[in-house]
Amino acid sequence: MPVVVQSMTNTDTADAEGTARQVYELAQAGSELVRITVNTSEAAVQVPHIRRMLDDMGCNVPLIGDFHFNGHRLLSEFPDCAQALAKYRINPGNVGKNRKGEDQFAMMIAAARQYDKPVRIGVNWGSLDQELVVRLMDENAKLAQPKVVAEVTREALIVSALDSARRAEELGLAHDRIVLSCKVSDVQDLIAVYRELARRCDYPLHLGLTEAGMGSKGIVASTAALAVLLQQGIGDTIRVSLTPAPGGARTEEVVVAQEILQTMGLRSFAPMVTACPGCGRTTSTVFQELAQSIQSYLRAQMPVWREQYTGVEEMKVAVMGCIVNGPGESKLANIGISLPGTGESPAAPVYVDGEKTVTLRGEHIAEEFTQIVNEYVARKYVRK
Ligand code: SF4
Repeated sequence: MPVVVQSMTNTDTADAEGTARQVYELAQAGSELVRITVNTSEAAVQVPHIRRMLDDMGCNVPLIGDFHFNGHRLLSEFPDCAQALAKYRINPGNVGKNRKGEDQFAMMIAAARQYDKPVRIGVNWGSLDQELVVRLMDENAKLAQPKVVAEVTREALIVSALDSARRAEELGLAHDRIVLSCKVSDVQDLIAVYRELARRCDYPLHLGLTEAGMGSKGIVASTAALAVLLQQGIGDTIRVSLTPAPGGARTEEVVVAQEILQTMGLRSFAPMVTACPGCGRTTSTVFQELAQSIQSYLRAQMPVWREQYTGVEEMKVAVMGCIVNGPGESKLANIGISLPGTGESPAAPVYVDGEKTVTLRGEHIAEEFTQIVNEYVARKYVRK
């Protein structure tokens, strides 16, 4: 089964139009599941409208409802919301305590059974059941050789998820309707927790480094953690929890998730651009601009191409800065261009399927190269 890309909105779900728009954007970017928070009555009442708006836009991406604290009440009081969602995320650390918590958890599982929805039991480091942590710490303290605190906390995450899953099954939810996640914000903790979780159960696992952060730090930390696990065959759905820069695109988390999977050779989503880093042999920014513009163009075209052609997402394009590695790397790609480095004659040979086909010169190299890519796609890939 291919690993599935998930994302989450950051709009107020009570704002149905804004939320539907962002879900649509995330789905267009390639998110195959989108989670929305369902935190208030106002949000719950809008969920079926959001679903309808998306359907009207021709967008059938499944919506996952993220419930905390009052999910039991919202799922029972708003049946249209419960029905419109494709999956419920339940955080065992936020369902309530003791008998009350058990009853509230049972109400949510009852809703999942009534509406025939799968459930993700999503444990999170930041909202871990503290009573469970204290109990495990006490038990640990009595051991002849107590484990270190971090190990006990990791165990608490795993126990919380597995106990909740067992309880859900006791309440009648089918084994194959349960997904687990145990998100933490530290890379090594995440790897250790998921390895152990995968060893101890056969539930599908949703992976994500929670609160990964902003920009390159968030991307690198998420990639480091997810790549190790994915390489070991652990993970069925993934989410990259990036904090967008102010005004930044929410869809960045989808692009990063796709790129993790694609660069690891696990799935293909959009043509990839191989570009050299540039060096002292390239003193102009021409090749950086071409690499950037062609990468943006390929991604922007993908929703259209996806509808028209089969296999275009596997295309490889090379944009190289000079003659040292340019022709070699270009020949390995489906289409490659080797731009002239400093002191080289102002000519850019283009290679198609390993053969040099044309040499571009002058002011319009970018447009001409884009045209070559378009013609290649139309010629090479089978029309749907
Ligand atoms: S291909 Fe040329 S410009 Fe690019 S990094 Fe290598 S030597 Fe430098």
